[in-house]
Amino acid sequence: MAREWSGRQGYIVTVLLFLCSADGARSEATGGGGGGGGTQVLGMRLETSDKPASTGDDGVLQVTEDSSVQLRFYGLRLHPGAWRLIRFTELSGRGEGDSGAGATCSDFTKDIEVGTGMNVSGRGTSGLLRVHAKPLRKSQPSSEYVLCTRIDEPADGGGDERAGRWQPLGDGDGRLLVVEEKKSLLPLWLQVILILGLLVLSGMFSGLNLGLMALDPMELRIVQSCGTDKEKKYARKIEPIRSKGNYLLCSLLLGNVLVNTTLTILLDDLTGSGPGAVAASTVGIVIFGEIAPQALCSRHGLAVGADTIALTKFFMLLTFPLSFPVSKLLDVLLGQEIGTVYNREKLVGMLKVTEPYNDLVKEELNMIQGALELRTKTVEDVMTPLADCFMIQADAVLDFDTMSEIMESGYTRIPVFDDERCNIVDILYVKDLAFVDPDDCTTLKTITKFYNHPVHFVFHDTKLDTMLEEFKKGKSHLAIVQKVNDEGEGDPFYQVLGLVTLEDVIEEIIKSEILDESDLYTDNRTKKRVDAAKSKRDFSAFRPDSDAKAKISPQLTLAAHRFLATEVSLFGTFHVTEKVLLRILRHPDVVQELKFDDDDKRAPQHFLYQRGKPVDYFVLILQGRVEVEAGNENMKFETGPFSYYGVMALSTPPLDVNKPSQRQNVLRTSGQPGVTID
Ligand code: ATP
Ligand code: MG
Repeated sequence: MAREWSGRQGYIVTVLLFLCSADGARSEATGGGGGGGGTQVLGMRLETSDKPASTGDDGVLQVTEDSSVQLRFYGLRLHPGAWRLIRFTELSGRGEGDSGAGATCSDFTKDIEVGTGMNVSGRGTSGLLRVHAKPLRKSQPSSEYVLCTRIDEPADGGGDERAGRWQPLGDGDGRLLVVEEKKSLLPLWLQVILILGLLVLSGMFSGLNLGLMALDPMELRIVQSCGTDKEKKYARKIEPIRSKGNYLLCSLLLGNVLVNTTLTILLDDLTGSGPGAVAASTVGIVIFGEIAPQALCSRHGLAVGADTIALTKFFMLLTFPLSFPVSKLLDVLLGQEIGTVYNREKLVGMLKVTEPYNDLVKEELNMIQGALELRTKTVEDVMTPLADCFMIQADAVLDFDTMSEIMESGYTRIPVFDDERCNIVDILYVKDLAFVDPDDCTTLKTITKFYNHPVHFVFHDTKLDTMLEEFKKGKSHLAIVQKVNDEGEGDPFYQVLGLVTLEDVIEEIIKSEILDESDLYTDNRTKKRVDAAKSKRDFSAFRPDSDAKAKISPQLTLAAHRFLATEVSLFGTFHVTEKVLLRILRHPDVVQELKFDDDDKRAPQHFLYQRGKPVDYFVLILQGRVEVEAGNENMKFETGPFSYYGVMALSTPPLDVNKPSQRQNVLRTSGQPGVTID
């Protein structure tokens, strides 16, 4: 037979040998007899396999059960239909070392399925064919097969496969293909337990990564100081490892990646197919290793982190060799982790955004916001503008009109200006008026000089927190707001812009209007009135009215009292006690005032007494003068204060007007209040 392989055939063998030596993974066999001029399969080698497969040193192919293998066949005059010339037959009941010699091709196996259509090379010397090794039967660790080829091919290249002679390939060892049981890394039960355990770990790592890393060190400290007892306990446990942020991060990530990759490998082993393992591990890791734990830990990170702290520490220790150096590097590169620090604006923003969820009531929220914004506002923003300020002129007289104007304004502190409203020289406090009688018409200067309150000036850009501090120091709770005006030509000067009080600052803190019992406006800027009834106070009841009873000073009352008690015997202590006399004098009807009308000198009300008209009253002139006409000669004389008439009316019974004998006098006022006897 070797002799027959001369020339062209020898060339082919050389090529085969070359291929064999090129990769050392070829199984070569020569057919038991070459068909002269017919198609002949001479050998095969392994190309690819979707499962572990190899070529042994003895040239026997070893493939895994349930795998699809691509084999390259070598031979002569191969063509696409040459797959029909290839079958496998099982070497049943043979031990490892048994020889394949004598193997018959009488019974083809269906365990090795040969694919249809050979992909043949240009010269017909090699062709690719896919074969599928079916799963082994139970309790069968491996199975050996021999390749059978049909050497007597019909002339047309197809036809009945039973025609011709089937002959096994290979001369010494008949085994050409060994299908081995797929070997698992671990027993199935252990694999399942491991996969579940790894899934839990994967979930724990990614959950802790989110839960612990989201709790920044600052937040942990806050929780430690003001959380619930449970939260404090959790935070205390977590803080020591969270403070090593990068080390924790590296350990958790390393652990997560390690677990996920191991999981994929185990799943690959379990499912037996690469794509299946990828799909299963992706679904498993995403759902149980990422989504579920992260959703849980984003809400209960503190509790989960604290409860799994021992495991976390263990993994930190386990991954120490890699994670610690990396974390140190990160520490150096990124610097210390401080955590979230809120500035004023962020704090206000956070409070606003979390309003529906925090337990602050609106007023509290406003106050916090107001207090935080205090530094951002100036007195100019909250002051009452100069045009709206209630002020009084320095040379005002504190008569009834001025006083009632002050009272009507409702303000307690009133700036006093000289000439121009912008020239504020003093402050008048309403309580300064406690000793002032409007009738005395005291000048304002007298009062301001006496009390001499310092005027509190502030610049318009003073921040409200500074202003509050100043008000707290005991200075006046009203400050005049001014600014340096250097616009235009001429020297810069202080320009008064308005006034600000403690109430304005407090209103800004609590972010709502304070109304006191005398306030007329809810807001000094919008000028919204409190309520119409309150806004118009009527002080006319206090006005000294000409028609109303006359009012005399306490000194004059005292003088009249002393005069009557000593000069008019009927008012002496023998008849009337001093107390009763004082009470008489204070009676509203006792002191009366008569005004003399120059245009109507003889008006009846000018006459206090008239000749022939009986009276039952006594008159003591306190102020002004009276004209008296008396006697048959009509003697006229004038008298002034502390002259008195009608003493007899006090002692005698009421006069009988019908008795002509009785003298009747008439008194008439003249000029100033007075008495004339006609
Ligand atoms: P208090 O309440 O201490 O008796 P008050 O009622 O006169 O004093 P505040 O309560 O301090 O004054 O201020 C209330 C509002 O009235 C504030 O907006 C303040 O700017 C304004 N205000 C105070 N005094 C005057 C004034 N003389 N003229 C105009 N507005 C004033
Ligand atoms: Mg007030």
